[in-house]
Amino acid sequence: MNRGSCLCGAVQFEAGPFDSMVHCHCSMCRKHHGAMFATFLTAARNGFHWLSGEEQVVTYPSSGRGLRPFCRICGSVVPTVPPHMGIAFVPAGNLEGDPGMRPTLHMFASSRASWFPITDPLPQHAGFPPGFDGGESIENPPAASNAGVTQGRCLCGDIAWEFTGKPERVQNCHCSRCRRARSAAHATNAFFRHKQLTWTRGEDKIASYALPGAKRFGQDFCRRCGSPVPRVVASTGYVVTPCGSLDSPLEKGPRGHIFTGSKAPWFEITDSLPQWEALPA
Ligand SMILES: [Zn+2]
Ligand SMILES: [Zn+2]
Ligand SMILES: [Zn+2]
Repeated sequence: MNRGSCLCGAVQFEAGPFDSMVHCHCSMCRKHHGAMFATFLTAARNGFHWLSGEEQVVTYPSSGRGLRPFCRICGSVVPTVPPHMGIAFVPAGNLEGDPGMRPTLHMFASSRASWFPITDPLPQHAGFPPGFDGGESIENPPAASNAGVTQGRCLCGDIAWEFTGKPERVQNCHCSRCRRARSAAHATNAFFRHKQLTWTRGEDKIASYALPGAKRFGQDFCRRCGSPVPRVVASTGYVVTPCGSLDSPLEKGPRGHIFTGSKAPWFEITDSLPQWEALPA
């Protein structure tokens, strides 16, 4: 059995053994996780148990049969247990240990962001792989093209924003907090200045979670769909923006990987970007 939890720890579960592990680049996963891709494990329904916090789980119905559950306190994505399917889908980023399995393919590779290439040798499928009963196709919103403006919105669309100009930096973070917050292999965050940000709608629909004991770490997310949204950090003047929520392409991808000392055991870095064990000097 493998244990997992959301960022705040209210929702806990155990699952296993697992039958499959895949990366998904669809726009819904990217928005719901706030990450550049999601990684899911599947287990038989009777191999999955909630240990605590099931009453904190809110499920946003994204489309057709699509269910997108998250923790109402911290916004982490939590496992999906669709009725009548006999399967549980577990976001790998929330696991505490090594599931003893590795991802075998990329799905919805055609939806990935143009500036975030896939660099490992795993098979890539444009949509669902053959034989995968995924139900309906998944939306892929056209990239916004307002010159000089970077636009983003949450999965349900209640919250939307734009930044003028470019981010000061973009980086992948592998720390355990980011992995649990985004329920993914790592976070990819863009750092903008506060004055670059305009909320175009729904600022009042943001829920904010501050991690107890952390200086600045937290997660802001949509109350209705759970998607992470830009988080204004007053003490630094930066807006930490989950890149999975962006509709506009970025001109430049991440400068590298930070906190690789905390990297998930099941994820291998295969690009050639610089890596830092913790923070860059
Ligand atoms: Zn939580
Ligand atoms: Zn997906
Ligand atoms: Zn939303």
